[in-house]
Amino acid sequence: MTNTTYSESKPNFMSSVNFNPNRNQSRKKASQQIMNRSNYVNTNMSNDFKIGDIFGINVFNRQVMSTLLPKPVYKSLVQSLDRGERLDPSIADVVANAMKDWAISKGATHFCHWFLPMTGLSAEKHDSFLVSANDSGAIIEFSGQNLLLGEPDASSFPSGGIRSTFEARGYTGWDPTSPAFIMESVNGKTLCIPSIFCSFSGHALDKKTPLLRSMDALNRAALRLLNLLGNTAPSRIISTVGPEQEYFLIDEAYYLSRPDLINSGRALFGAKPPKGQEMEDHYWGSIKERVLAFMIDSEYELYKLGVPVKTRHNEVAPAQFEVAPVFETSNIACDHNMLLMEVFRKTAQKHGLRCLLHEKPFSGVNGSGKHNNWSLADDLGNNLLDPGSTPSENSQFLVMLTCVILAVSKYGNLLRASVASAGNDHRLGANEAPPAIMSIYLGDKLSQIIESLVSGKKEVKGNHGLPIEIGVSLLPNLPRHDSDRNRTSPFAFTGNKFEFRAVGSSQSIAFPNTVTNVIVAEAMKIIANDIEAHLKKGQDLNDSIATVLQKTLKEHQKIIFNGDNYSKEWHEEAAKRGLPNYKNTVESLPSLMAKESVELFSSHGVLTEAELNSRYIIMLENYIKTIAIEASLTANLAQTVILPPCLEYQARLAQTIATSKIAMPNIMQTAQEEILRELSSKINDFYRSIEVLETLIKSGGENHELLNEAQYYEQEVLAAMKEVRKFADQLELFVDDSLWPMPKFREMLYIY
Ligand code: ADP
Ligand code: MG
Repeated sequence: MTNTTYSESKPNFMSSVNFNPNRNQSRKKASQQIMNRSNYVNTNMSNDFKIGDIFGINVFNRQVMSTLLPKPVYKSLVQSLDRGERLDPSIADVVANAMKDWAISKGATHFCHWFLPMTGLSAEKHDSFLVSANDSGAIIEFSGQNLLLGEPDASSFPSGGIRSTFEARGYTGWDPTSPAFIMESVNGKTLCIPSIFCSFSGHALDKKTPLLRSMDALNRAALRLLNLLGNTAPSRIISTVGPEQEYFLIDEAYYLSRPDLINSGRALFGAKPPKGQEMEDHYWGSIKERVLAFMIDSEYELYKLGVPVKTRHNEVAPAQFEVAPVFETSNIACDHNMLLMEVFRKTAQKHGLRCLLHEKPFSGVNGSGKHNNWSLADDLGNNLLDPGSTPSENSQFLVMLTCVILAVSKYGNLLRASVASAGNDHRLGANEAPPAIMSIYLGDKLSQIIESLVSGKKEVKGNHGLPIEIGVSLLPNLPRHDSDRNRTSPFAFTGNKFEFRAVGSSQSIAFPNTVTNVIVAEAMKIIANDIEAHLKKGQDLNDSIATVLQKTLKEHQKIIFNGDNYSKEWHEEAAKRGLPNYKNTVESLPSLMAKESVELFSSHGVLTEAELNSRYIIMLENYIKTIAIEASLTANLAQTVILPPCLEYQARLAQTIATSKIAMPNIMQTAQEEILRELSSKINDFYRSIEVLETLIKSGGENHELLNEAQYYEQEVLAAMKEVRKFADQLELFVDDSLWPMPKFREMLYIY
């Protein structure tokens, strides 16, 4: 009988299993710590502040400058800022001195050139105001030269091959269009001077320089077009941006028990929680006190920095939130979004929370994006994408709208590439974020108007039955926020602005906006050339505009889609229309280096071929490095954190069965044995998948061609990681909960 076999093996078997009751300590401790937390709703500051009293108090803005600078200096500075002209270098010393005195009066001891290298983060190297010290004390100085130019030894910043190591020095230069500010930290204050970052040979090594150049390009192209339309009033056109920012907050104790979150910003393991977002009970729900305390505290810090945050609410996924600022010029909006992300990270820690800005921290619930609301404004305060109330305003609006349609139709691939990253790949294309296919949503009303322009005869409802005639007829009233009915579109017209929804939550908005600006500038150039050609042939202005719009819209109407972007039908329809569908970073990035793209960026003076190439290389490298890190982490955690408790559970089960058989030799153990068999088989699959991943990791770096290497990571490594995760997540749902080592989604997303 089999029972003798068992009883014979008894002594050995029993003594060989040594259970570790402390295995699960970090997860358990995390939960205990959270339950014992008190006082976490404390905002660390008085919450009866008045926004007006603190807004911008740490900013060297125009108001401050007008009181601290001599009148002629202030006038000269403001004039060059308003006109986008080069600054008179002779005023630099005066400005620097005033800036230094102001900063010191506020308690700053150091200054830094604050810049945006191609890491996608902000960078700063602090210098104290002290220049020398002798018997008579310290000498404090900050010259115009200090303000204008910094020379960080920046050889460790990515340059995408632009800067060879022998000319490693990078130069930072003051960007006077974005105001200097004082960054407060617990133990000191630093004057931060927003700056560009270039190589010795003048190549842009940062994200700000091309953005500023693209704003210039747009200004030139827009002014030329407006003048052609007979609008000579504005002297400057700027792009305006309001980025809505999504993010997650989780308790720090959980965060610290998840090495994947710490090292890669996203959970590489974790079964979908039983309750996800299906109840739709989080979105715009009442904000928990603790989260509100974090929000108020962050807003307080941001107001001091002059960042105009406005809205706050719960987002769709559990533990997900959103903040949106009042829009500003692109460059400042970009700087402010960088500050916002930094302030959020810091403030979350003060509240025992962690702010996750990754595009997809938790699979199974929605990821995070950054909706980039974009428009054009003139220096007289008019929004050029506002339909307006006179026929001439309307025809101007239709021309501007057509420019955007042309831009996205012709260069949608560049918009797609501008938001490509390993993190954003988890989002685009899943049915929660816009698909990777670029299209424009206009809403029914506006689409009808476009139809009528194309056909030249159709009537538009609400337009008194009149066909659209450029320069003669009034447009019917267009409903604002029409687009809220379609949240699936990647590029939606929302009444007086476009909302580019594919930007990732952790990304700098600089490059997506650089691309938006340059493609619209190009479209304006094309349309202006066309109109000019017709004028030269003797056609009058309105006829010329009508002809050009009709021709352009006919050709590019294919980019307009008002339906459900998530549907299978759209994917088929888009393919028929010839719209590209670059499903991931690796597929989309080569568009950057296409001949037309190089020509586009260089002809507008935004990026030279070398500069564009460096962005392409850095984006590819980032992709590869991100996945390489995630892959190592996956293999590592699978082997050393997840596998051991699975084996332990297996041993416990085996022991249970063995001892039961001794105690009850004649009772079948069918269920128990089945559980053990299933567990063993899952562990086996899991272990094999780790082996496969490890082998693939070892072969990483064997491709000499960067694109091939990226393809390898996308097709092989990422797929192997998914397998490991699949089995790990199955085990999570199978193994004794008290043994499971890492906090589960059902805890992390709900207990905070
Ligand atoms: P919605 O809720 O439809 O997205 P909101 O009015 O709430 O619209 O605006 C969302 C974001 O769009 C805000 O950050 C806002 O500042 C920004 N925004 C509004 N108007 C403009 C504009 N003209 N240019 C750029 N951004 C804008
Ligand atoms: Mg919105």
